Parts: sequence; structure tokens; C-alpha cells
Amino acid sequence: MADRRPFIAGNWKMHKTVPESVETARKLVSLVGGVSDADIMIAPTHVALAPVAEALAGSNVALGAQNLFWEREGAYTGEVSAPMLASAGCRYAIIGHSERRQYFGETDEKVNRRIRAALDGGLTPVFCVGESESEREAEKTFSVLDKQVSDGLKGFVADELSSLVLAYEPVWAIGTGKTASSAQAQEVHQFLRGLMAKKLGKDLAQSLRILYGGSVKPDNVAELMAMPDLDGALVGGASLKPEVFSEIVKFKRKQSS
Ligand code: PEP
Repeated sequence: MADRRPFIAGNWKMHKTVPESVETARKLVSLVGGVSDADIMIAPTHVALAPVAEALAGSNVALGAQNLFWEREGAYTGEVSAPMLASAGCRYAIIGHSERRQYFGETDEKVNRRIRAALDGGLTPVFCVGESESEREAEKTFSVLDKQVSDGLKGFVADELSSLVLAYEPVWAIGTGKTASSAQAQEVHQFLRGLMAKKLGKDLAQSLRILYGGSVKPDNVAELMAMPDLDGALVGGASLKPEVFSEIVKFKRKQSS
């Protein structure tokens, strides 16, 4: 089994002003400075990226964006490109989050273009997939995920995706307090790894980090992360408070206590 380094990511969504973002980032850095057994990322709003990058400089917390546009530059009012995000200090970009799919007309085809643009611009995509409650109830979970992954990664070869991070986020578990059980999450992660092996080869599938997202909290993270195919967490609400997020980042201590 590949040795996959845990990755704990915080998605701040549309929360926090610029000063609040900087203060939260500073606090987080002071709380997780001693953590060497996980990669850590936070994704503030676009306007806070550059000042938060300064607050994170020299720390073990990396910066991510919540979205990007696929063109590099041009007459696209209101959009931000991968090279611009990289120049603000980003290393990662969340792509295809269910809120973008639900509220902003995100399609698998657009997700595909954003993933290509992220990689071309030197950013690591954190590619989100997940089924809705009604899709799960109709037993369509695997077919929905198959389509999201297949269309989102259409045209890519394994070599281009060595840095990719996949995030399984069941829509019914996001911001609802309903977490997938560790067994439910493991079942899907194992399916996703198998799918990636079929599409892009065993090597990529074995080294690919697959994060779980959906109401992850300090009191459920250790059990989820104990599953063999869960390699980290994408955290929304619980990432907004540095004291709480740092507890999630330190989940290994909970597992060994
Ligand atoms: C998310 O938005 O990616 C998420 C998982 O949110 P929450 O942790 O609040 O469910």
C-alpha cells in the first residue's frame, strides 16, 4: 500500500473579511506549527489571498483558492486565473465544489477546463465530487461519481495528474451535520481508487490522495481517517475557527491516545 501523506484542507467559503482572514491564519500558524505529519491548506476568499499568503510565509500551512477561471487573462470581468492565483501565493485550487455545481452552473466540462488550467498554471487541483441525497437514495452514487470523475478528467493522462488531489464530498453531508459513516466513506473511496486505477493506472491510483468532506469535526475525524482509503479531509464549517481546525489537523494524536 502506498504511503500517502495525510492532507487536511480548510475551505472558508464566503466567510471572513480580509483582517479576519489574516488574524485567523496567524492563529492557525501558531497552533499547528509543530505538525510535521500532515499537509495543511486553507482556502480563504480571493480578496484575502495575498495578505493571508504573507501571514503564512515560512509556515507549514499552504494557501489554496476556492475556484479559478480557465483562461489565463482577457476580457472576463470578475474572473481570476490560475497564474494570478499562483502569483498571490496559492499552491492549490479547489475545483468543482458542490456549491459551485449547485449555485453557479458548474458542469463537468467546466470542471475539466479548470483542472487543466490549474495544472498549466502550476496549481494542484483539489477536485471535488459527490452525490446528492436523492441520488444516494436511488442507488446512483457510483454511477454519478463515475460520470463526474470521467468527464472531469477527460483527456488527461496519468503523468499529468501526479499532483492531483481528489475530494469525495457527499452533498447531503456538507454543512448539514450529517457525516457519512466511516464505512460509507470507505466504500466510496475504495470505489474511487478502483475507478482511477481503471482509467489512469494502478500507480496513480495508489499514490492519489482522496480526501473526505462533509461535516468533519474534531470528534469524528480520527475514526474517518482510520479507514484505509481516506487520506485526509476537506473541512468547511469547522475550519473557520483555528482552535477547532487545528484539532482536526492533529487527528493522529487522537488516534494514538
Ligand atoms: C465543504 O464545504 O467542503 C464541507 C465539507 O463543508 P462542511 O465541513 O461544513 O460540511
